[in-house]
Amino acid sequence: MTSYPYLIVGGGMTADAAVRGIRELDDTRPIGLIGAETDAPYARPPLSKGLWKGEPLEGIWRGTGQAGALLHLGRRVTAIDLAARTVLDDHGHRYGFEKLLLATGGRPRRLPFGGDDVLYFRTLEDYRRLRTLADRGARFAVIGGGFIGSEIAAALASQNRSVTMLFPEEGIGSRVFPADLARFLAGYFEEKGVEVLARRKVTNLVVKGLDYEVHADGESPREVDAVVAGLGIVPETELAAAAGLEVDDGIVVDERLRTSHPLVFAAGDVARFPAPTLGSRIRVEHEDNAVSMGRAAGRAMAGDDSPYTHLPFFYSDLFDLGYEAVGELDPRGEVVADWKVPFREGVVYYLSAGRVRGVLLWNTWGQVDAARALIAEPGPVRPSELVGRLPA
Ligand code: NAP
Repeated sequence: MTSYPYLIVGGGMTADAAVRGIRELDDTRPIGLIGAETDAPYARPPLSKGLWKGEPLEGIWRGTGQAGALLHLGRRVTAIDLAARTVLDDHGHRYGFEKLLLATGGRPRRLPFGGDDVLYFRTLEDYRRLRTLADRGARFAVIGGGFIGSEIAAALASQNRSVTMLFPEEGIGSRVFPADLARFLAGYFEEKGVEVLARRKVTNLVVKGLDYEVHADGESPREVDAVVAGLGIVPETELAAAAGLEVDDGIVVDERLRTSHPLVFAAGDVARFPAPTLGSRIRVEHEDNAVSMGRAAGRAMAGDDSPYTHLPFFYSDLFDLGYEAVGELDPRGEVVADWKVPFREGVVYYLSAGRVRGVLLWNTWGQVDAARALIAEPGPVRPSELVGRLPA
């Protein structure tokens, strides 16, 4: 058995940030990291963004080993024994811990058909597979109109690859954007050469020799060489639940990122944490959240007693449009759009119960902190007061 004062389960950006957080306060005691992927921790955003715009692959490595962790890669933790303070991996190896961090992230949601013929894009290995296919000139179907679907479709189209997007909603990014903006984006992707099939649910995938036929409701089958999907993720909470930790669509943590067991912490995509600015518990699946909460969890494990109060932001680039956003973007509620140039530049405010809950800064930069301050205001705010509130 190998024993660590600090043990981290997970090998993503959250885990890397936690190593650095621990090292800010404790530069000597050993840190162990167990990751299921065989790759050491890397930056995930470039896989669907920068690597398709000429950024070098070498730039993605986080240097987690040099930052002070001993990496146990290609190993999946299968059980946690809280009483014995140990975890067990799928090679039968046991690790002891004094403090444990669960940074297990999430796994891609899958279709009920297609098996491994569908590339559920999430990891560096997925990027390598997709890059090989793109370099061979493959024609792609991209299923899903969320973050992965939109970024990957834009990346492939920018490589002059044939891309058909299929998704059940009205437009691209319908979960976060108001309906008119999501519809505009669908048209914008078409202008950029992507075939966009909105309101289409994929019903089957038929293997035809080396190709695939994608079947969707109300659509003649599309023949493609490869199928990529981004259908959201399911938080990896099973280990925590089996160990008796509180789980509620994520591992529940307090403001010091502790789970329901005082020696076990959780952070990143998998953690449901209190967001004081919003007055509710949230779970966030974006880079800033992974990095900020990972660091805070590492510091908390090393003895920092300050609460975690950060409201994370997220961002994306789609061809030559880009945005930053903060808070809860729920277009089903009240939305105030303040466009300087419709759908090209402006600010969208998301309201609930007389308060701003989220802000979308569309081709509008340097306003994330101002947006956070607005979300923190107790209100009530009238929609008309928001026009011009944050300068576009
Ligand atoms: P996502 O943004 O939640 O989008 C999932 C999409 O798949 C939605 O359009 C959803 O439609 C659709 N969908 C669900 N089931 C489907 C089905 N059976 N057939 C067709 N479409 C279906 O998730 P994602 O794009 O897979 O991204 C994965 C994770 O990576 C997310 O956590 C995301 O936040 C993160 N990520 C973030 C960024 C960024 O911050 N820029 C970039 C890439 C990835 P419904 O809404 O109708 O269910």
